[in-house]
Amino acid sequence: MYDTQVIIVGAGPTGLTLGIELARRSIAFRLIDIAKAPAPGSRGKGIQPRTLEVFEDLGVISSILAAGTPYPRLRVHLGPLSLRLGSLGGRKQATERVPYPNLWLVPQYRTEEVLRHRLAQLGGQVEFGTALEQVSARERGVEVHLSSGELVTAEYLIGCDGGRSSVRKELGLALRGETLDTEAAFVADVNIEELDHTDWHVWPFAKGGSIGLCPLPEPSLFQMMSPRKPAEGIDLAIHRVSGCDVTQIVWSSMYRPAVRMVDHLRVGRIFLAGDAAHLHPPTGGQGLNTGVQDAYNLGWKLAHVLRGGPESLLDTYEAERLPVAAAVLGLSKQIYRTRSLKRGDATNQLRLHYRTSMLSSGKPFGRLHPGDRMPDIRLADGTRLFDAMRGTHATEFTTGDGTRILIRPDGYIASIGGQPVAGFAGEPTHRVNGSRTSLECS
Ligand SMILES: Cc1cc2nc3c(=O)[nH]c(=O)nc-3n(C[C@H](O)[C@H](O)[C@H](O)COP(=O)(O)OP(=O)(O)OC[C@H]3O[C@@H](n4cnc5c(N)ncnc54)[C@H](O)[C@@H]3O)c2cc1C
Repeated sequence: MYDTQVIIVGAGPTGLTLGIELARRSIAFRLIDIAKAPAPGSRGKGIQPRTLEVFEDLGVISSILAAGTPYPRLRVHLGPLSLRLGSLGGRKQATERVPYPNLWLVPQYRTEEVLRHRLAQLGGQVEFGTALEQVSARERGVEVHLSSGELVTAEYLIGCDGGRSSVRKELGLALRGETLDTEAAFVADVNIEELDHTDWHVWPFAKGGSIGLCPLPEPSLFQMMSPRKPAEGIDLAIHRVSGCDVTQIVWSSMYRPAVRMVDHLRVGRIFLAGDAAHLHPPTGGQGLNTGVQDAYNLGWKLAHVLRGGPESLLDTYEAERLPVAAAVLGLSKQIYRTRSLKRGDATNQLRLHYRTSMLSSGKPFGRLHPGDRMPDIRLADGTRLFDAMRGTHATEFTTGDGTRILIRPDGYIASIGGQPVAGFAGEPTHRVNGSRTSLECS
C-alpha cells in the first residue's frame, strides 16, 4: 500500500501542468513546493504556439489569452535616434491547422496563477512550504522524507523542482553543458509611468551593458533585462537611458545563462521534467515551454500505467523528450550566441515530433508522419478536430475512403493506416470523421 500514487516535487509551470494532467485522470498525487507562497516575477513570459495548443487542451486557453498580449515591436535606441523594428513574436493570421500562430506574452506569475486555478477546479492543490528532503527507492515505489516531518510512500516521484533540483542531486545525475557567460545576468519587473508602454525598448550600448524594457500586460509594468546588474543602481541606469523615473521595483533576480541537460530523465520510478532536467538561456523563449510539454508527454503515460498499462510505456518519455530537449537547447544556444532576432517556425515548437518513437507506426500521409503533431482540421460535421481531441482520451480520425489516423492523448500521431499501436492499447478513444481533402490540405 502507498500513501499516494505520485509525488510531484515543485509547483512551477512543469509541476502544475503535470498536476492538471493527473487530476483530470483521477490519479491521486501530492504536489509540494518548498516556497511558502507562489513565486513572483515575470521570468518566462513567452508562450509558444504549441504550448498554447496544450493550454487549449488543458482548459486554460481563454484565461491565458486574457492574461497576455501579442509580443510588442522592438524599438532600438541609438543615441538620439530610435529605430522601430518588428516583433519577436510574429504577426501571422490564424489558419485552420494552426489556430495560435504567434508567441503570446504572459508574465510567468500569471501563467502559474492560471494553472493553479485550473488545478483547484479539478480538486488539486499545491502544498506550499513543504520541501522534499530525501528520497529513497523501495522495491516497488519510492519513500520520501518531507520537511513537514512526514515519511510518504508513492508509486512514482517526479522532480519538477527547477534548475537546482534536489531530486536530480539525490539521483546523482549531472547537468552537463556549459554556462554561456561568466557573470550573472539581471532581470527585474519595474514600474515606469512616463515611458511609452507600446514597444519593447532596447538600449544596446547603455553604460555597463545593454538594457531592455519589455512592456508587460499591466499598466506601466516592464520586464527589465540586462547582461549585468547595473552598478549605479536600477533607477539611475534606467533614468540615464530613457530619461524616465522608476516608480517601483516590484521584483528582481539574477541568473546565469546556461545550456545544460541531464543524460537520463528516468531512474527506476523517479523522473525529471522541466528545468530540473534541462536549463535554457532566456533567448528564444524555450524553457517554460519545454517543461510544460515534458509534463504533457509524461502525464497521460503515467496515468495509463497506473491504471494497469504496460510499464514500458514510461520508457518512451525519455526516448521522446531527451532528443527534444537537446534540439531545443541547441537552438537557444545558437540564438544566444548570434543574438539573432529571427524567431517564428524555428522556435514555435509546432514542428517538434516523435517520429522515431516506438509509439509511432505506419506510413506518411502527404506531409504528415507518424509521430508528428496532429494539426487542427475541419471535421465532416463542421466542428474542429481540436475540439474533438480536447480531454484525456485518444482520438481516431477516419476519412471516407478508410484512411485511419490514431492520435495520442497528447495530440501526436500514433499511427497512420490503422496499424496496431504498441504501448497504449485500451486508452479510451473518440472516433471522428473528416474528408481526405481536408487532411491533404493540412
Ligand atoms: C529572465 C528569464 C526569462 C525567461 N524567458 C522565458 C521565455 O520567454 N519562455 C520560456 O519558455 N522560458 C523562459 N524562461 C525560463 C523559465 O522561466 C523556466 O524554464 C521555467 O520556470 C521552468 O519551469 P519549471 O516548472 O521546470 O521550474 P521552476 O519554475 O524553477 O519551478 C521549480 C519549483 O520547484 C520548487 N522547488 C525547488 N526545490 C524544491 C524542493 N526541494 N522541494 C519542493 N519544491 C522545490 C521551487 O520553489 C519552484 O517553485 C526565462 C527565464 C528567465 C530567468
